[in-house]
Amino acid sequence: MSAHYPEDLQKAIRFHGHMCPGLAIGYRAARTAQAHLAIGPAEDEELVAVVESDGCGIDAIQALLSCTMGKGNLIYRDHGKQVYTVLDRKRGLGIRVATKPGPFQRTPEQEQIFRKVMSGEASQEEVKIFEKSREQKIKEILEAEETALFTIEKISCEPPEKARIFNSITCEFCGEPVMEPRARVRDGKMCCIPCAGRNYDRGW
Ligand SMILES: [Zn+2]
Ligand SMILES: [Zn+2]
Repeated sequence: MSAHYPEDLQKAIRFHGHMCPGLAIGYRAARTAQAHLAIGPAEDEELVAVVESDGCGIDAIQALLSCTMGKGNLIYRDHGKQVYTVLDRKRGLGIRVATKPGPFQRTPEQEQIFRKVMSGEASQEEVKIFEKSREQKIKEILEAEETALFTIEKISCEPPEKARIFNSITCEFCGEPVMEPRARVRDGKMCCIPCAGRNYDRGW
């Protein structure tokens, strides 16, 4: 790990396990949200982050803003988009940080090498070229102007409901506890989602 990285980025790298372009984007998005909302990390649930992909970047959001899955103030929407919305509950405002198309576009040559590396067919020389261009990408992301990376939008918001604690019922099929709002009924018996089997959706 490069010792010249700022402390908060080093924390994100430790949390994520490696440095990569995706983490760099998430780091810049977290920093952007902090700067525009003038906020630090969330001690409890005063901040909520809504993330729209499950890529590397969300680990920087968790590490810097302390919006985490376990605290219930990280909401994941499976849209496959690098969009990060950070909401400040108390003030009822937030910021939407959407990654512009630029940072991950590859030249045709880079694309060719990338595919070879991914399929394990790259020569040592090509792997070196790939690693170098990856490092360059990380550097570009870390040094770019915020507005070159993101479309930034201030929003006022009705923040999502705080995470609640629910009663558990015991699944009558596997015997494991499940929170009430996620319980299902199968053959007239209470059960958990995995034991309920496939939804009745008639293929639509
Ligand atoms: Zn990564
Ligand atoms: Zn069950």
